[in-house]
Amino acid sequence: MLSKLRTLCLKGIDGFQVNAEVYIAAGLPAYVVVGLPDAAVKEAKDRVVAAVRNSGFDFPSKRITVNLAPAEIKKAGTHFDLPIALGVLAASGKLGKKPPAALEDTFFIGELALDGALRPVAGVLPMLLALKELGKTAVVPAGNSAEAAVSGIKCLSAASLKEVADWLTGAAELKPCAAQENKPAAGAPAGDFSEVKGQPFAKRALEIAAAGFHNIILVGPPGAGKSMLARRFGALLPSMNFDEALETTKLYSVSGLGLAGRLVRERPFREPHHTISDAALIGGGASPRPGEVSLAHNGVLFLDEFPEFSRPAIEALREPLEAWKVTVSRVKESVAYPARFLLVAAMNPCPCGYLGHPTRDCACTPLQVHKYRAKVSGPILDRIDLQVQLSPVKYADWEAIPRGEPSAVIAARVMKAIEIQRARFKGGHARANAFMAGAELRRHCALPEGASSVLETAMNKLGFSARSLDKILKISRTIADLEGAAAIKREHVIEAVQYRMLDKSSVPTFGGI
Ligand SMILES: [Zn+2]
Repeated sequence: MLSKLRTLCLKGIDGFQVNAEVYIAAGLPAYVVVGLPDAAVKEAKDRVVAAVRNSGFDFPSKRITVNLAPAEIKKAGTHFDLPIALGVLAASGKLGKKPPAALEDTFFIGELALDGALRPVAGVLPMLLALKELGKTAVVPAGNSAEAAVSGIKCLSAASLKEVADWLTGAAELKPCAAQENKPAAGAPAGDFSEVKGQPFAKRALEIAAAGFHNIILVGPPGAGKSMLARRFGALLPSMNFDEALETTKLYSVSGLGLAGRLVRERPFREPHHTISDAALIGGGASPRPGEVSLAHNGVLFLDEFPEFSRPAIEALREPLEAWKVTVSRVKESVAYPARFLLVAAMNPCPCGYLGHPTRDCACTPLQVHKYRAKVSGPILDRIDLQVQLSPVKYADWEAIPRGEPSAVIAARVMKAIEIQRARFKGGHARANAFMAGAELRRHCALPEGASSVLETAMNKLGFSARSLDKILKISRTIADLEGAAAIKREHVIEAVQYRMLDKSSVPTFGGI
């Protein structure tokens, strides 16, 4: 006997409908899965057999064929367990003589434990969003209930295979999925900008970074406040709108981190350690998962001790810094994950940290300094908009320096600049000044008389590349927006040039331009 069920699968962060057909024929007992299944789907057999038996049903000792269609999409994951088990029950007549009507109209997702309990799975939110316009119902594991509720799709939750079987035969009801209270995640932004004394140049650069979504690198000795500033940076950014929140939540769902079951409302702040593998940073693996760059989508990726990251990891940042996405290749197909993050990188000027320090000696050889700096030179540095050097704060000055501006005051200025950009890019390609390219860049960054001579000097005397000049234009635009100025002025360009100082020197020194 043949049964047909509906389920879903993922490609990247997009959901697709899949039909699961189960055919039971007379013959020697066998179990075959066709339709491009991965290893986890093939292993479903053992879980399905145990779950069916431990739910109080007989498992048919016949020839069972499972077909997952369409065949050209690779089927990965353990969530096919539930539809396959239900298909076996329906095809062997355990759900009544005629398959229940709800079987055809409902989408089933869930991994089975050996005792028949339903386990939560990754990627429920993006899978359900594929049903958005259909008006269909889905049944998900109880552990995914809150996440499923975020989708806005009509969903029911079940704790076991038996509960779903009883619902299909009309013997019991299933609970609708309910949203969870949206409480903020633990470990949200630590501290306020006012706690960081001094470093006005770095604070100004971070304000510009937040206003135009510009990447930034902070270079300075240990104790200058690089990490303190970076960890407080998230407080300068506005909260995400619904579309951004949904995009980011989808990535957390696919990665399996969305199981807490709520919409990720606050911008992510990811701080992976420099020992991270390039696959964990960028994404990938045998069954691809988004990496840290995608988990930071719409938020901040803070890479402390930047040159200590492996060279493949640093080089792999080139694609997301250029295209705002990463492509993960695997056998038969490749998937793309969004990765529009704001990079905040921090590094010492040399391995010991004291090169150019006014009172402490650097213990590094020139070769050590060269090797350390070479890891982030060229193409990567070129892709970072703002480059800032922090000077050490002398203890004698420390007491005298007043507390800085609170984060909320800076964030209010940032918000005004963001609103100007929202109006500017309405319906356009870019969302912020940092994403301007081609025609948008020329249209919004026209230079006034006098300002182009600043750029000419920067290019001819300081040796800036064409890519650097584009960065200077975008930063100038953000500085003008912070001031509420319609046109870029000469002083905006002069300030912007100061944030490209690493371009012209192979070894940074303190305070020198
Ligand atoms: Zn040193």
